[in-house]
Amino acid sequence: MEFQNTLEFAKQLDVQDTLQQFRSLFYIPIMNGKEVIYLNGNSLGLQPKATQEYVLDELEDWASFASGGHAHARKPWMTYNELFPKQLSKLVGAHENEVVAMNSLTVNLHLLMVSFYRPTKERYKIICEAKAFSSDQYAMESQVRHYGFSPDDTIIEVAPRDGEHTIRIEDIIATIQKHGDSIALVLFSGVNYFSGQFFDIATITYTAHSVGAFAGFDLAHAVGNVPLALHDWDVDFACWCSYKYLNSGPGGVGGAFIHERHATVSSFNRFAGWWGNDKATRFQLQKGFKAIPSADGWQLSNAPILSMAAHKASLDIFDKAGIENLHQKRKLLTAYLDYLLNKIIDENDEEVFEIITPINENERGCQLSLLMLKDGKRIYDAITNQGVMSDWREPNVIRVAPVPLYNTFEDVFRFGSILKTSIMS
Ligand SMILES: *Cc1c(COP(=O)(O)O)cnc(C)c1O
Repeated sequence: MEFQNTLEFAKQLDVQDTLQQFRSLFYIPIMNGKEVIYLNGNSLGLQPKATQEYVLDELEDWASFASGGHAHARKPWMTYNELFPKQLSKLVGAHENEVVAMNSLTVNLHLLMVSFYRPTKERYKIICEAKAFSSDQYAMESQVRHYGFSPDDTIIEVAPRDGEHTIRIEDIIATIQKHGDSIALVLFSGVNYFSGQFFDIATITYTAHSVGAFAGFDLAHAVGNVPLALHDWDVDFACWCSYKYLNSGPGGVGGAFIHERHATVSSFNRFAGWWGNDKATRFQLQKGFKAIPSADGWQLSNAPILSMAAHKASLDIFDKAGIENLHQKRKLLTAYLDYLLNKIIDENDEEVFEIITPINENERGCQLSLLMLKDGKRIYDAITNQGVMSDWREPNVIRVAPVPLYNTFEDVFRFGSILKTSIMS
């Protein structure tokens, strides 16, 4: 599409947008009497207006039924977790028996590493991206130490080449091949939180398997954002949080994927809890764990109903919007942002910022990361004071993510204008 750098053009795109009405399903924060330009859905998604009702329903059922709610709540708590696999499986490209809503992201990462990182003297290394999110790095370091290895020669990072900001797939492949059968696990993010790079999950998985290693992915910035086909890509496991693109509220319940070929094996190694036990014998409360032969078998505890109610409210919106439609709009929205940013770069004699997210629309999601070359913090503060909510990542990156469920082309245009004047002032 031929874009134009005018408000009229942006408004025209909004009129043509078939998902336009979805914005009204969300609360948009107000600043100085005006709706903010919210470009931070990659960090915390906006609150759906319906969420309060979903949560209130559960509070009411708790008040009315007390322990009877396990069986008699409108959505019985005993089986509440079963409301999720259908919707989650569509978002991550999985079979229903491969996904489960549970715990939080880092907890799930640890649980899945317990299952899929089982180092031996010969096969112990982890291959991952350089500058993975801190929590993931801490999870890896502590797991490696737990087994008596040293992170320094066990965790092998693949970094961008000098002068580059994203990691080349050929370098990932070469690193995996180089370390070969000393690798126990290849663990990458789906979309890197800093650069916004969407990794080639299928190729990474294929290469990991070719040396006999497992492949796992942290989809915090990928789920609800980019197209995923975890089952067909043969991914071994994945985990994610629900408060970013999935709009399920701060600290909301996380999720996990375990490929069917492992998930259906009740004897597969894991840390167990009663909620993962065969439902028929769960309440006999006897010793001798017998796993549910699906991703549900990784559950530890009974479901956190209040946070799951918020999760359900949001996933129902995803269902109505349709993930394919969201992908279509996302591509256009981020392409328009890319176009406007490049206009600003072209108009400035001096280089003020550089976009470090891949240009190729299949290697990124909503987010673009601006590496600020000059005055970064001042510019960030200036756009923030003018009603833009984005975020700053040390040492010098502004991340902006227009989200197809609730952002408009007008948001993107106004952000561009504000950024332009903030650079010049
Ligand atoms: C957001 C994010 C986290 C946060 O972990 P929690 O356990 O939900 O606090 C971890 N890893 C990545 C890659 C993230 O983007």
